[in-house]
Amino acid sequence: MVRTRIAPSPTGADVHVGSIATALMNFAWAKKNHGQFVIRIEDTDRTRIVPGGEEKMLDTLNRIGLQADESPKVGGPYAPYRQSERLSIYKKYAEELVASGKAYYCICAPERLAKMRQDQQAKKQIPKYDRLCFHDQKNVIKKIRNDQLPHVIRLLIPDGETKFQDVVRGEIVINNENLDDQVLLKSDGFPTYHLGVVVDDHLMKISHIIRGEEWLPSTPKHVILYRAFGWELPAFAHVSLLRNPDRSKLSKRKNPVWTSWYLDLGIYPEALLNYLALMGWSHPEGKEKFSLEEYVEKFDIKDIQTSAPVFDPVKLEWMNGLYIRETKNSILKDQILEFYKAKKVDLDEKIVEKTIPLVKERIKKLSDYLPLCEFFFQPVQRLSLEKDSLYIKSVYEELKTITDWKAEIIGERMLELAKKLGIKNSEFFMTVRIAISGKKITPPLNESMEILGKEECLKRLDSLV
Ligand code: GLU
Repeated sequence: MVRTRIAPSPTGADVHVGSIATALMNFAWAKKNHGQFVIRIEDTDRTRIVPGGEEKMLDTLNRIGLQADESPKVGGPYAPYRQSERLSIYKKYAEELVASGKAYYCICAPERLAKMRQDQQAKKQIPKYDRLCFHDQKNVIKKIRNDQLPHVIRLLIPDGETKFQDVVRGEIVINNENLDDQVLLKSDGFPTYHLGVVVDDHLMKISHIIRGEEWLPSTPKHVILYRAFGWELPAFAHVSLLRNPDRSKLSKRKNPVWTSWYLDLGIYPEALLNYLALMGWSHPEGKEKFSLEEYVEKFDIKDIQTSAPVFDPVKLEWMNGLYIRETKNSILKDQILEFYKAKKVDLDEKIVEKTIPLVKERIKKLSDYLPLCEFFFQPVQRLSLEKDSLYIKSVYEELKTITDWKAEIIGERMLELAKKLGIKNSEFFMTVRIAISGKKITPPLNESMEILGKEECLKRLDSLV
């Protein structure tokens, strides 16, 4: 049975686009194999929790359409799916490891540990706990019992090396001398990430762990833990982190990284998923545009690439433009109305309907619509016209005589007029464009004027002369 999961920590304001890319792989792998995709919230690092973060993350995952089969919201057979509600479970398993000699209690004060670390660093050694408490375990246990001393539980890293297979990176071998006796259970009763993640992935029967490569250094500790418990290892697949187009690590400074930022711009969830599907994977036929369904069918974890994928917002917009062009006009109209309504802007449905054929080829995301079309809804502050634009008056007079207000006729009459006045077409039409729309870039002018209507066009010209 294939069961995958993502395990976000609510330590950020939203879901990073890179996390969506790995969530997508987990989702696809579960669906392809008729298994389950689980969302578990890892909220044990209490000092780093961002208020409202969990809710926002779950909301974003929902918006993007990666529905979990089990999660804190929908529940499931292995509930609770929030680690802070599972503390007694971790304690039980940590104690079990102590009982079997695979872990031990430690009562060292933070000051001692800090001093030890400093000394080791000064000697250029790997900072590691010196096992003082391990060697004095009997006394330590007595002291904990008698004096109620605060204590942690540490993993006893065995001698030798740790070997495991990574689906993406092949065999990984680590000399255990490089590993510290990791704290598993903290003195406040919360597990560390390492204990929580291993216990939960085991109890929740996770078969494949697909996650970012930043977790690879933690994996040997996890493998040691699985073996200490006598549990079967899941398959590990560590995927490369996204990069900016200049190859630097994707970070807030260069490009927005929060998923809802892109959705709020009017990037379609399907387009974002499609683009992210190409991060570290390619369609076997080299296709760039494909549905989630097709991705699920074609995706295989053995095809995940090791090269660092580039996340380019410009390419993402391009991809979204492809989706816009495939959207039926009536649906696009509703999407635009809804998009702006959510931003508290009510647009006239009739105008939106008429303008869609003019802009569909030009917009790449829903938020491109209004900057291009604002002038249909209201006169827009005009750029200043050229000094010799006195012929606006003639334009006004000419247009006034048109009885059949159609783009083609408007165009013909203006061409004639430009010729008669001896003005270059490009200059003439730019002047009229600015006069009507206040902008240098608009949808096709004649069609725009037809939509605006004769009366409104004359009014706008009249106000200039
Ligand atoms: N809680 C970790 C995170 O914030 C999960 C890492 C993992 O997938 O094991 O991403």
